[in-house]
Amino acid sequence: MPIKKIIPAVLCLAALILPVTVESKKIVTKGRTYLSLNEVGIRYGMRDMGTSIADRKRRVTFRKDKRQFTINGVKYILNFAPLAGDGTLFLSSMDVYKALDPILRPWTVPSHPVRHIVIDPGHGGKDVGALRGRYREKDLTLSIAKRVRSRLIRAGYRVTLTRHTDIALTLSQRAALAKALKADLFLSIHINAAENSSVCGIETFAMTPAGAPSSTNTKLEKTFHPGNRCDINNLALANMIHRYMLGRTGGTDRGVKRARFQVLREITMPGVLIECGFISNPAEVRRMATAEYQEKLAKGIADGVHAYRLAIRNNKGVLKK
Ligand SMILES: [Zn+2]
Repeated sequence: MPIKKIIPAVLCLAALILPVTVESKKIVTKGRTYLSLNEVGIRYGMRDMGTSIADRKRRVTFRKDKRQFTINGVKYILNFAPLAGDGTLFLSSMDVYKALDPILRPWTVPSHPVRHIVIDPGHGGKDVGALRGRYREKDLTLSIAKRVRSRLIRAGYRVTLTRHTDIALTLSQRAALAKALKADLFLSIHINAAENSSVCGIETFAMTPAGAPSSTNTKLEKTFHPGNRCDINNLALANMIHRYMLGRTGGTDRGVKRARFQVLREITMPGVLIECGFISNPAEVRRMATAEYQEKLAKGIADGVHAYRLAIRNNKGVLKK
């Protein structure tokens, strides 16, 4: 037998005799494709560490059957919980494209001009929003929004507030104003509330992708809303704003989350809804009512917008609005 034929023959024999474990790279269940953590790690140039993928600067940690995951300790939410099998975890391909790529591969986020920003102070007029003692959500959101406006204007952006005073606006009017002005970004500012007064911290919401469940439920809604046109940008923006807010305020991280809030459904440009803190937490609301802390929140939001603009500025793909 010529040597060229012997080598493949020996290899075939070895494959038959030796126990060969072939790690599956993907599984398909309920019509969804899941990729092994090892495959996901390769995509980002990261090592597979069992339940994490990591490189020198970043560590992304997942838990079996849990939608929450962390990137360098900051909380995010997957559309679908990772599945366990073959001694590893599997992540849905939708999460790779819509939850991980916008953060771990920022150069793939479509670019667009970031000049005119609409800031939406939540509630107003008869709608006071959340209420605790003398603190009213509608007052806090307006005060914080005005500070974000000042900072962004000083940084060279054009800014429009959906309301400057204590007036009532419907949610549709807020989204419609941003659309009519052809704004580049939409930021809705809110204050949270909970039954449990010890709950505190910052949450940043991006629109839930079509076909995925929101953070607080398991309902899969297939409808493609106007806000879904910017799924990748929405999450990239939420990520930047959330990280800078945590950094500037030292506030508690409650995560970058997903919701189909009406304003997020109806906007036609990238946007987020920010819950700055809990009115129901006595210490946090006292802090949020001070000019000093409002400035920290505003700086976090404005710095996040600026970081987003820089991150996407030279990207090849262009956002089609
Ligand atoms: Zn609110």
